[in-house]
Amino acid sequence: MLQIEKLLPGYNCGECGLSSCREFAAALVDVAGLDRCNILKQERFRGRAEQIAELLASPESREEIIGILDGLHADFALAPLPGEPSCREDLHPFNPDVFLKEGDIFRYRPLGCPITHFARVLKSCQGIVTVHLVGPVHLLQGLPAPEDIGLCMVLAFEGTISRGKRPDVGETVRFLPEHCMMQKVHSGVVVHSEGARVRIEGIDLKVW
Ligand code: SF4
Repeated sequence: MLQIEKLLPGYNCGECGLSSCREFAAALVDVAGLDRCNILKQERFRGRAEQIAELLASPESREEIIGILDGLHADFALAPLPGEPSCREDLHPFNPDVFLKEGDIFRYRPLGCPITHFARVLKSCQGIVTVHLVGPVHLLQGLPAPEDIGLCMVLAFEGTISRGKRPDVGETVRFLPEHCMMQKVHSGVVVHSEGARVRIEGIDLKVW
């Protein structure tokens, strides 16, 4: 991970959806994920993507999936759906006065997580807000800080299994979302599985 971090631009701009290049390096599991760093495509970084691809393909990179913060083993790592910036999350805001619509960017803290997240609304229906995580890049662009809606319950994750075993529907699983800034193992129940695409509900950060 440290070798990959050294090859990244080091701008910590958050355009990839994570708040630093270090977090991006920790979350990176395949070459396709490099597409989320647009800075790396600049001429001055020519050749870096190829070097990172070599590191990802090395036998050392195929180790077990283990949360960095908690040291727990996960069944699989969860990457974004193709072409998307992060896994999708379904949130339930505890604040009843919050009204969000498609495209809104806001801040929140997931129940059980100490980190403030930045997210963009994909859809909002019946008290459930489906989002992508976007990182704080808009703050660096001089835009006003997005609204802080406070605590939210994370109800579901949806994404693609990038490493590890594919679970059965109904299975209780431990998984590591690539975009998790703490790289902490989450748990939940698989309610939909189609190839590498899965939806996991009943999300819990307490993993026994
Ligand atoms: S997009 Fe992400 S990985 Fe690329 S420079 Fe910005 S923070 Fe670093």
